[in-house]
Amino acid sequence: MQTTIKKNILLGAHMSISGGLDQAIERGESIGCTAIQIFTKSNRQWQTKKLTNQEITIFLEKQRNSFIKKINAHASYLINLGSPNKDVERKSIEALKIELMRCDELNIPYLVLHPGSHVNTDEQTCLKQITHNIKTIYKEKNYKTTLLIENMAGQGSTVGYSFEHLAYILKNCGTKNIGICFDTCHAFAAGYNFSTKKDYTNMWKNFDNIVGLKQIKVIHVNDSKKERGSRVDRHQNIGQGMIGKEAFKLLMNDKNFKDIPKVLETPKDNLNDDEKNMNILLKFIK
Ligand SMILES: [Zn+2]
Ligand SMILES: [Zn+2]
Repeated sequence: MQTTIKKNILLGAHMSISGGLDQAIERGESIGCTAIQIFTKSNRQWQTKKLTNQEITIFLEKQRNSFIKKINAHASYLINLGSPNKDVERKSIEALKIELMRCDELNIPYLVLHPGSHVNTDEQTCLKQITHNIKTIYKEKNYKTTLLIENMAGQGSTVGYSFEHLAYILKNCGTKNIGICFDTCHAFAAGYNFSTKKDYTNMWKNFDNIVGLKQIKVIHVNDSKKERGSRVDRHQNIGQGMIGKEAFKLLMNDKNFKDIPKVLETPKDNLNDDEKNMNILLKFIK
């Protein structure tokens, strides 16, 4: 399936790195992805081994020769820069530095981060702490990789579910190496409405006023199992969730996002499931 290349679109899915980082590129190529997302290490462990020169060389070479034009990384789910627990905060800072370093080594331009959760303090304290930590990390070392803050569903005590939260982090983190990864499922679960043409247009106008459309560097294209405003983060296959096909048709044809990589994080047993979702999205393109 090379429709992605023919249609000149950056579309793909999150790929497993099982068997080696370079395997993610092969998996993506096997179903015609032109963009993929990976974890550069196990996403549920703090610890990781340093990348060897051989691992780096193999990955870079495969990346150079691939028709996958955009690769972005997603940071570990354990990282919480806004944690009130000092030990978790310290571990999170160290882990994020390591992930940024790995992205630099692997020539990956964007690292997606869940901003964090306040657990038992409050949103403002949490946002302030997250912003301060990002500032410190980039002050200490000028990473090439840009950190992308992902909008969240607002489950539990997570921050980053409102456009205002995202704008606050971007405005105050003191680095230009920052942007947004927009997740459609998260935005819907957080309460944003973009299921009709009118609502879609209004939401982006609102986003542009508060955050700025040009801040979006990656889009996670996911339908939502749960209803709008549920604040529950459950991804669903395109067209089988509560968002509705119209929103995805509008997104796939939106000139503002023509050059932005669109990556699926939909449920999957194997690559066929990603391919099915990609085909649905490709058919939406006029
Ligand atoms: Zn995410
Ligand atoms: Zn996402």
